[in-house]
Amino acid sequence: MSEEEGTEYFRQLDVAEATAKRLLALAPSLPQERCREAMTRQRHITDLQELSFSIVAGNWSKTDEYQEEGSVSPIDWIRHNCLMGAGHAADRVNVGEQLASLPKSAQALADGEIGFAHLSLIARTANAVATSKPDEPFDESLVLEAARESSVGRLWHFCQHVRHAADPEGVAAEQADAARFRRLNLNTYEDGSLGLDGWLDAAAGATVRSALEPLARLGGSEDDRTREQRQADALIELASHGLDAGVLPRRGGQRPHVQITTSLETLRGLCGSPAGEMEFTLPISAETVQRLACDSAVTRVVLGSESVVIDVGRAKRVVSGSRRRALDVRDKQCQWPGCDRPPSWTAAHHLLHWAKGGDTNLDNMVLLCHRHHTMAHEGRWQLVRTGDGRLLTVPPGPGMFGRARSPDEFGAA
Ligand SMILES: [Zn+2]
Ligand SMILES: [Zn+2]
Repeated sequence: MSEEEGTEYFRQLDVAEATAKRLLALAPSLPQERCREAMTRQRHITDLQELSFSIVAGNWSKTDEYQEEGSVSPIDWIRHNCLMGAGHAADRVNVGEQLASLPKSAQALADGEIGFAHLSLIARTANAVATSKPDEPFDESLVLEAARESSVGRLWHFCQHVRHAADPEGVAAEQADAARFRRLNLNTYEDGSLGLDGWLDAAAGATVRSALEPLARLGGSEDDRTREQRQADALIELASHGLDAGVLPRRGGQRPHVQITTSLETLRGLCGSPAGEMEFTLPISAETVQRLACDSAVTRVVLGSESVVIDVGRAKRVVSGSRRRALDVRDKQCQWPGCDRPPSWTAAHHLLHWAKGGDTNLDNMVLLCHRHHTMAHEGRWQLVRTGDGRLLTVPPGPGMFGRARSPDEFGAA
């Protein structure tokens, strides 16, 4: 670029800046019926500007001027001085660097057939193919054709196939590398609740979603949970099923199971009884103790009034063997109206709890899935068997008491 052309570039930047400021002032009062037209035209202008920015960034990145100001790379310099994220800066440098091999794509952007986001993906794919197979020319036309017909998300999908075809080892290595960055943080808060935070690579994430999706669907009557609530419930159900089904590896000669300690009074729900104790969390309500002791495999350590251990419990389910099989045959699925969880995903709920004298015979038992079992105990729904064998569900009355606040909730000191 000649000296004069350089000066002209800055003159045009002045014009563009003045125009941008004028647009900013006018934008709030643009009539709504002209917004669509304005948005498509303005996005095209922005894309053209992104392209010229990328050309400049690509040219400049070949110099080592970035070092003069202590940056570690051209992208690092752009990130700081152009106030951009590292990914956006890297994409623009890459577009600038690859542009010489992407003339048709640059033209397609100028003609408004593809957006800058498309071009950026094409350039990334071109770079990946050129890096892994330097001798093989990148087939620009193939990817550009897909770009013209695809959303950016679909094009990314397509580009992954192109990359895999050119460089299967590279894609495999990249994905294996991504798997090393999996993490799951479990943070127990002061009130005993658990915060989850993590990251999974694509295939691992898809595995978890495949397992959670069917469990997270709307199910049964009275299901007004949000998607987030259903996903959380699905995760708990998956974990409970793993524990109840006895499929987890043994530790110390025992299958992992929920460990609770409770008094007989708590189990019976008597007034004045202490809360139950559960491994990994704070004291739990009598309702939760009763649900867990209803059928799950739990370690039950029942203490008498003198705190003497009178019953060191069991690590298998309350209802097992032929009785459980008979119950499965009779009920066939969770008996909550509208729910179809199969028997292996249910517990044998006692309509009258065994701790209160209820029998473990078929008349007193009903299959309930994890969520509906929780609604029956902690949720205090009443279950009533009608004369014709159906199960009636009665919601709890109003006036449930307020909850106590934990020390670290809502920023309390
Ligand atoms: Zn139960
Ligand atoms: Zn159910």
